[in-house]
Amino acid sequence: MDTVAHRGSIMRAEIIAVGTELTSGQKLDTNSAWLSRRLLELGVMPCWHTTLPDDLEIIVTALDLSRQRADLVVITGGLGPTLDDLTREALARLAGVELVLHEPSLRHIEDIFARRGRPMPERNRLQAMLPRGAEALPNPLGTAPGIWMTVPRTPCACPREEHPLNLGLAKPRTTLIALPGVPSELRTMWQTIVAPRLQQQLHSPLVFRERVLHCFGLGESAIEAKLGDLTKRGRNPEVGITASDATISLRLVAQAPTDAEAQALLDADEAFIRQQLGEVVFGSGDDELQHAVARLLERTQLTLATAESVTGGLVASRLTQVPGISRFFRGGIVAYQTTSKASVLGIPAHLLEQYGAVSAPVAEAMAQRVRQLFQADLAISTTGVAGPDPDERGQPVGLVYVGLAWTNGVRCCEVRWFGERLEIQSRAAKTALNELRLHLLRMLPATR
Ligand code: AMP
Ligand code: MG
Repeated sequence: MDTVAHRGSIMRAEIIAVGTELTSGQKLDTNSAWLSRRLLELGVMPCWHTTLPDDLEIIVTALDLSRQRADLVVITGGLGPTLDDLTREALARLAGVELVLHEPSLRHIEDIFARRGRPMPERNRLQAMLPRGAEALPNPLGTAPGIWMTVPRTPCACPREEHPLNLGLAKPRTTLIALPGVPSELRTMWQTIVAPRLQQQLHSPLVFRERVLHCFGLGESAIEAKLGDLTKRGRNPEVGITASDATISLRLVAQAPTDAEAQALLDADEAFIRQQLGEVVFGSGDDELQHAVARLLERTQLTLATAESVTGGLVASRLTQVPGISRFFRGGIVAYQTTSKASVLGIPAHLLEQYGAVSAPVAEAMAQRVRQLFQADLAISTTGVAGPDPDERGQPVGLVYVGLAWTNGVRCCEVRWFGERLEIQSRAAKTALNELRLHLLRMLPATR
């Protein structure tokens, strides 16, 4: 098998996803995202994502460009048996060779049909055709073999061509790996065949390691301002900021010769970020606010109840996503109509009349009442206007009050969220979970 050649110190890869269902927006290209993460684990930098329709001319043109700019090209999709599956043919055209039958692949396909007790349609023979000189990658889960081949890298004016490490490389070649579009087949083949081979051949001088920290309570730009030039491009680790539903995530990617050195770089940046942002950082990796709350309930051994209006049960729903939360979460009430706030929660009529259902006094009373009803240590409440219209008293869309009651007191916070109805509800639920988290953090020293 040809080995993977690369020009510089870090290999640069292009991922090409083929399928009209992807370019037309009918289906989301999840393979490229998955492949990018796997490449990074191997120390290969994914630099281009290309999505293409099932069109031979377009695929060949894109492949021709990719072989000039990337060291490694991973293609997914277009290996099926139907007329719109064109990856094999495009690769043959690119290499200027014909498609030839690969006998072992044909036997594998015949075998699969025999085991299913069905005759093999003639079209499936096509899946055993490979560009001459290419290697077949066995597919244990399906009929289509993958393809591994190299093609000469045509001259290119890009600056990498002048990279000092390239000077000794005669006739550089680009490696192309085509894998099925079916996600389970792609993943299995990557993990069992492609990744181990790449790892053997790459001798990548660097490893990439990633860490993600999640923040809530400050905006993207406010967070960036507190971090100095941490988010400047070209830094190592590279730190990227993304906002999703009011959660701000910092993604740190470190490059280093060894895992230990990469982790040390990440540790240093994480320590700096936590020092600068303090309580704004609530977790890492797959953590959501409810996980941070659950950990703190465990540490403080406090019980909790919820009374929700604008969030319609979202706070309780998110809390109950966490396994083991039943030891601390007693339960909750969704008191949506104003009359239910009076009849079920027992909010005094004069409060509702004087201040309206969307008000700080009502949020506080909801938290206090539900705390009593469930005999909990802590209670959280939400009331607000999710929109699209202001409430009957003219309170604006996005106005949310979160009440918090505990043994010795009660308080309320007011926030104004922008967005559509579901976004406001979700952000209101996050505000409630975050209020709980901050309160529990303050209680920690007392329980130590
Ligand atoms: P193909 O290999 O092009 O015949 O695709 C087989 C199946 O995998 C189809 O159901 C596709 O919609 C799905 N598929 C193809 N490419 C992708 C992709 N990039 N991400 C997720 N699913 C895909
Ligand atoms: Mg397809």
